[in-house]
Amino acid sequence: MKNFDVIIVGAGPAGIACALSLIRTKLSVLIVEKELFPRDKICGDALSADVINQIRTFFPEIYPEFIKLRSAAPSYGIKFSSPNDDSLEIGFSKHMDAAPGYICKRIDFDNFLFQKLTDLAPDRFTIQEGFKIDEITHTDDFVSIKGEGETYTAKIIVGCDGMKSLVKKTFQGSTIEKKHYCAGIRAYMKGVDNISNGNFIELHFISDVLPGYFWIFPLPDNTANVGLGLLSNEISERKLNLKEIFNEIINFHPEISQRFKNAEMIDNIKGFGLPLGSKKRKLSGHRYLLTGDAAGLIDPFTGEGIGNALRSGRFAADHIQKCFVKNDFSGKFNLEYDQYVYQKMWRELRISRGIQKLLNYPFLFNYVIKKAQKNPSLKKLLTSMLDDVDIKEELLSIKFYVKLLFNKY
Ligand SMILES: Cc1cc2nc3c(=O)[nH]c(=O)nc-3n(C[C@H](O)[C@H](O)[C@H](O)COP(=O)(O)OP(=O)(O)OC[C@H]3O[C@@H](n4cnc5c(N)ncnc54)[C@H](O)[C@@H]3O)c2cc1C
Repeated sequence: MKNFDVIIVGAGPAGIACALSLIRTKLSVLIVEKELFPRDKICGDALSADVINQIRTFFPEIYPEFIKLRSAAPSYGIKFSSPNDDSLEIGFSKHMDAAPGYICKRIDFDNFLFQKLTDLAPDRFTIQEGFKIDEITHTDDFVSIKGEGETYTAKIIVGCDGMKSLVKKTFQGSTIEKKHYCAGIRAYMKGVDNISNGNFIELHFISDVLPGYFWIFPLPDNTANVGLGLLSNEISERKLNLKEIFNEIINFHPEISQRFKNAEMIDNIKGFGLPLGSKKRKLSGHRYLLTGDAAGLIDPFTGEGIGNALRSGRFAADHIQKCFVKNDFSGKFNLEYDQYVYQKMWRELRISRGIQKLLNYPFLFNYVIKKAQKNPSLKKLLTSMLDDVDIKEELLSIKFYVKLLFNKY
């Protein structure tokens, strides 16, 4: 049996952010990951400006190498297509030293993060890949994991183990509320036509897929991540088959199919779940914290979860240091972590949930996009919404639509 201060389960973005944030402390840390890197993670592979900003600000030791990654395509904006096929291109705010966003296959991005952690981790850190946990147990005084013939204990465990989190299941059981989950499928394709020069990520709000969307995210070497995602309750209630819808869109959609005439699939279509942050969940308890997808922090409108995975991984590391200072690992003390996470993230998640609900009224979407196509100041306002939560909240107010109606933008 070996003892650590902290066990981190999972080495995706949340686990790596948590581990990197603990490097400057004196704590001994065990990181266990069930896969061997490089490993795939089914995703859209879009790294938003938020992800890039967090890497730049909080992990400056890895940022210069990240922006040189040849497997990452720099992305300069978003193209929205409304249900009636009008489209609007919005550029991201620009930075001096790098592109505002990137698209990078997770097999490459997560491997990059993992290798950086391996390079930077001090001797106090033990990193175990390909480690299958058989059991997690806990007492008042410690948590332990058993697996691969070993037992490890720690004062606190962090669940960074994604959507099917074993840590969450052990401490809280597992329930899936379908209206707060989304299912997504992804295919890697080569030769999709009319990719924009700035590698704009494309979100197509096609009627059949509402309140979700079909996406085309350009990757290097004339390849793209193409996929679609939709709320799980809608899929069940409407008895939808995502692969069929996907094939229907790329083969028969009047606009989109034209761009797939010369395209070929270079990998099978694969699917996975997205636990959305559209409701507040319990994120901690006695001797455990949950982060990233294990905590259910994905943006309900865009489906982005990497940014909040990094953020919650960092917040967990900050909270853990407080636990050690106070020598308090209780559920009561750990509630401060829940409160902090939601204090920082809830407003944006709530607004995104509101915007997701607006997708039930496609005429509104059509109307906003049509107006913005012809109105530069409205387009500028929508551009600011990408970075500014206050402005984003305007989308939920009736005042916004009244002003739009009377051409006040
Ligand atoms: C189809 C789809 C498209 C998406 N598109 C985007 C997008 O374009 N942009 C974006 O920002 N987000 C996107 N997301 C969401 C994003 O993928 C997740 O939010 C993000 O990966 C969460 O990071 P994480 O570190 O919490 O979990 P993960 O990335 O899932 O990492 C969890 C890690 O834990 C490991 N693990 C799991 N169980 C165990 C165990 N028992 N023991 C040890 N290790 C374990 C896993 O192997 C994995 O390495 C998408 C998701 C899906 C499904």
